[in-house]
Amino acid sequence: MQKLSGKSVYRGIALGPVIVLNKNDEQVKRIKITDADLELSKLAEAGKKSAEQLQSLYEKALKEVGEASAAIFEVHQMLLEDEDYLDAIHNMIQTEMVNAEYAVAVTGDNFYNMFANMEDDYMKARAADIKDISNRLIRNLTGEKEVDFASMEPSVIVADDLTPSETVQMDKDKILAFVTVHGSTNSHTSILARMMNIPALIGVPVNLNEIQFGMQAVVDGFNAEVIFEPTEEICAAARKKIIEEQEKHNLLETLKGKENITKDGKVIEVYANIGSVGDVGYVLENDAGGIGLFRSEFLYLGRNIHPTEEEQFQAYRQVVQTMAGKKVIIRTLDIGADKQVDYFNLGKEDNPAMGYRAIRICLKEKGIFKTQLRALLRASVFGNLSIMYPMITSVEEIKEIYSIVDEVREELDGDGIPYDMPEQGIMIETPAAVMISDELAGLVDFFSIGTNDLTQYTLAIDRQNERLDDFYNPHHKAIMRMIKMVVENAHKCGKWAGICGELGADLELTEEFLRMGVDELSVAPSMILKVRKAIRESEIRK
Ligand code: PEP
Ligand code: MG
Repeated sequence: MQKLSGKSVYRGIALGPVIVLNKNDEQVKRIKITDADLELSKLAEAGKKSAEQLQSLYEKALKEVGEASAAIFEVHQMLLEDEDYLDAIHNMIQTEMVNAEYAVAVTGDNFYNMFANMEDDYMKARAADIKDISNRLIRNLTGEKEVDFASMEPSVIVADDLTPSETVQMDKDKILAFVTVHGSTNSHTSILARMMNIPALIGVPVNLNEIQFGMQAVVDGFNAEVIFEPTEEICAAARKKIIEEQEKHNLLETLKGKENITKDGKVIEVYANIGSVGDVGYVLENDAGGIGLFRSEFLYLGRNIHPTEEEQFQAYRQVVQTMAGKKVIIRTLDIGADKQVDYFNLGKEDNPAMGYRAIRICLKEKGIFKTQLRALLRASVFGNLSIMYPMITSVEEIKEIYSIVDEVREELDGDGIPYDMPEQGIMIETPAAVMISDELAGLVDFFSIGTNDLTQYTLAIDRQNERLDDFYNPHHKAIMRMIKMVVENAHKCGKWAGICGELGADLELTEEFLRMGVDELSVAPSMILKVRKAIRESEIRK
């Protein structure tokens, strides 16, 4: 038995036989050749075939997991045509007179190491992509078949790092879990895995040579550990947990389509928080009444240039169209603090959480803000879209935002571009906003309380600092009173108030929120049915 720990990318538990991937990476042989032109033409042929495969993978992913995730195969197509990469391979074939497979393998390794050692997280994540296209080229050069994920029995996949093209080809009914030595939580692989609902661990120090095909393994995403060759006792406990999870899931499933209503008739909205277009699948799967927080900054992360107006418009339009008339609240860019993006060149700050972030950047760099607003107003034509502004502290900020929105409307009118004017609300996540919520309520259509930041700023506790976890108490009376105050002030002005911070999904507080008159709870998709259950079991007037 061997127990190893890693980082859990998706919670869940699985037990089954292991399949080990990526074992044979280094087995490409160096062969001396006499005809460099022949190798170059073989390489060109393999390149063409790879491009065709990537195109069909792109189309498959587009259908199954959406445009944002499918885009990785476009990145692969670009890498496949990258001049530096191809020049290095050509040069090696011609100067060292070696076979194309070997030149690709060595160049692939060199580029992999170069990317893996970069500071920038986005570039680091590209290391796996380089490996992916190099392996594909080698397979096409040697005529080796790709692993046929469709015909294998349900298994736990263990690998050095899973490439996005591998994960997307996997039939999720056949994959019980995956465990990788490398990979980051922001990598496409992790994102795809979460979307595919596969229990997954990354950063697990597995010696792949010691792990045999068919060996049993328990993958426990709750405790972030994998146990190879588990004892019968551990297997029995895992089976029990799997059944329990399934039962919980089945019970929750029966709540789909039911109203979010307490025993004594109080109705509340339950919406979902998402970070990407691809997450909408989860929203629908869990039967959310709408999207209460689309963290649009994720469109800006994991890339090296700003998303264009058109890219944003397509993303927002896709979400509102898919939600078919249900409310979709899109929060404008909340970059800075914990969400750093290199190309914004924000510079180092002593106190980033209290620094240049969110609406402050948008008000200072109007060009970035206007691009997003144009995309939002245009997408609004296609569904029930609302805009929400983060990190508000004053009436003046709202007035400034509105005057920028007016400019954007004039520009769209001037360009003859159709748009609609969405409802506009604000996040209440600073103590200042709480204290003047009576004034703010008259200016906006709704409030959504961001308890993650509100707790941080009220208790003066950095939410990122693990050492302060014991002090970070969102149940603190100060926070509870603030929520109550915000809701009352919203209602006095005839506006609604919801909660979109993590506290909204805290089942211990659901009844209390209902008593306070909170109108909406926006939670992670996986929490929707659990919150709905808590609401239906509540009785607030007792
Ligand atoms: C919050 O602060 O509670 C919130 C929902 O926003 P984020 O977690 O994205 O800062
Ligand atoms: Mg926040």
